[in-house]
Amino acid sequence: MILSPTENMTIFMLLAIFLAATKLSAGGYCEEDNEETYSYHGSTNGPRQWPRLFPACNGDMQSPIDIQTSNVRRDRQLKKLNFFGYDSTVRRADILNDGHTVMITPRDNVRRGITIQGKDYNLQQLHFHWGSEKNPGAEHTLNRRRFEMEAHFVHRSSDNRTAVVGVLIQMVNKDNQAFKPIVDVVFDVLYKDESTRLQSSLNLSKLLPESPASYYGYTGSLTTPMCTEGVAWFVLQSKQTIGRKQLNSFLKVYSVEEEDRSRECLLAPNNRPLQNPNGRVIYASS
Ligand SMILES: [Zn+2]
Repeated sequence: MILSPTENMTIFMLLAIFLAATKLSAGGYCEEDNEETYSYHGSTNGPRQWPRLFPACNGDMQSPIDIQTSNVRRDRQLKKLNFFGYDSTVRRADILNDGHTVMITPRDNVRRGITIQGKDYNLQQLHFHWGSEKNPGAEHTLNRRRFEMEAHFVHRSSDNRTAVVGVLIQMVNKDNQAFKPIVDVVFDVLYKDESTRLQSSLNLSKLLPESPASYYGYTGSLTTPMCTEGVAWFVLQSKQTIGRKQLNSFLKVYSVEEEDRSRECLLAPNNRPLQNPNGRVIYASS
């Protein structure tokens, strides 16, 4: 079969369109071939591949999990969560896009944290997992319901134990003023490796929901590689809210550097899929 030059051209163009389309549908090329790191959407380093690339992610006490409130063990002896230093507003903090999340690290040398069974766990950083209204991005689910966002307050004790406070965040129409200092600087860290300073002071106790002392507690892992286990999880029982417009600012954040930006390389949703509870008990403080 001999094709005329125009037929040749048509086939060539169709092939080009086909190749472009397959490249897009494969989830782009946003670090997806880089097995040195992990991603949320890549076919070679996305969450399904984490157990192969990072063996601890294959453990049997992984996070996040679904919390079935009818199955939790209510324990009146269980102490309420005790926060310290959260009332001192954060005046100095670094905000970083590390390609996986937006992270806030207080730099004001104020001691903040939680006390569990007499042991202090100091706040290291807080960061977020998010998605859109259609594709919500919280990590823990409550009776299989997934909220739009989840904040993680990561704490460490002097003997290197990790305790994370998880706050489920529901999108609503009305802005939540507690998020304003963060939303104001999200546009400065739209691309990977960009960092900035907080421009107005951040009140962490306002970022927590009302009655933050009541929680669902269980033993799990970090939800990102290395997926280290032995993490004490405290998912707060009350929810926080974020305004629709505020959440939309987070939806503009990329997982790549500015020169590599393309629509497929947006960070959201950056949540790990649910892990098997493997019979773990979830405690509920009253
Ligand atoms: Zn997290």
